[in-house]
Amino acid sequence: MSTGHLTIDLGAVAANWRALNAMTSVDTAAVVKADGYGLGAAEVAATLARQGARIFYVAYAEEGAAVREAVGARAQVRVLTGHMKGDTETLVAHNLTPILSSLEQIDRHFADLPEHSFGIQLDTGMNRLGLEWDDWAKVAIEALKRKPVVVMSHLACADEADHPMNPYQLDVFHQMTDGITTPRSLAATGGILLGREYHFDECRPGIGLYGGLPFGGARPVARLDLPVVQIRDLAEGEVVGYGNSWQAERPTRLATLAAGYADGVLRAAPGRALLYAGAKPVPLVGRVSMDLVTVDITDLDRDPTSLSLLSAEQTVDDLARAANTIGYEILTSLGARYSRRHTGDSTRAKA
Ligand SMILES: *Cc1c(COP(=O)(O)O)cnc(C)c1O
Repeated sequence: MSTGHLTIDLGAVAANWRALNAMTSVDTAAVVKADGYGLGAAEVAATLARQGARIFYVAYAEEGAAVREAVGARAQVRVLTGHMKGDTETLVAHNLTPILSSLEQIDRHFADLPEHSFGIQLDTGMNRLGLEWDDWAKVAIEALKRKPVVVMSHLACADEADHPMNPYQLDVFHQMTDGITTPRSLAATGGILLGREYHFDECRPGIGLYGGLPFGGARPVARLDLPVVQIRDLAEGEVVGYGNSWQAERPTRLATLAAGYADGVLRAAPGRALLYAGAKPVPLVGRVSMDLVTVDITDLDRDPTSLSLLSAEQTVDDLARAANTIGYEILTSLGARYSRRHTGDSTRAKA
């Protein structure tokens, strides 16, 4: 193998869904947008459909086709950006349910597809997607008559359990929806952890399925191994990489690995990020280039043939901390060049 090798444990995805599902007494959907947070929407969705998930969310209608194919005709595949201009054919072709988030989308949907399923997103303070109070007041009666599959909103600060925005949005959501009979949904991963009053009729976890915070109890899902391309010896004082940003302070054995920023190894990481030879840490030195990184292997007993960037030793969130970002960004930046293997789900494991 010449490129990095990404191993995705579908057994861990299934276990994470079951664990989150066990925290609620309501429907637990699965968010598989952005190709399942970079880990394969079709594989993840097929796995979770077999676990009993019946509702799947993508961000864009275009993402829905692959998920529909993976989960079969009976599950619901919903589109979080709603019914955008040009979506009509795709929504029909793959039987996707748009979550309408503006008066314009509601008008478009009722005009283009009056018999087609839909949901509604309300804004409770995040100011990103969703109908605001005044607009909701204008259309609520008419829209609810047409039986939306869900009325939802999204929490802006659910990863911080004590944030005052959480009870504030909960209160607004109650005020906007109390008394309706449509199923309601407010919680993603963070909201599930906030407790039952946030669960309503359906929860919609994403990141927790993929092993990321704020679900601290998640099983890691992604493993990333980078093959060694070259090994060389440096004398004390020699420099490494673009900008000569690293200088050997001792005779150094240096390995060059097959991944760079084009593969999602963030340039912000060096100095803090590590690779691992089993449980042994190996520091990243010099700048990350487009296709390659360099590591100091002087302290290893043997020359490695590959080193791990994600493993039990270093999780997605460890790496996120080193690069000053969030696990969501680490996962969705994982490169298209890596060879991928899905394991842990016997009926769909691909060699
Ligand atoms: C992305 C997203 C989710 C899933 O959020 P996580 O934090 O990954 O669990 C749920 N609902 C909406 C509207 C989203 O955009």
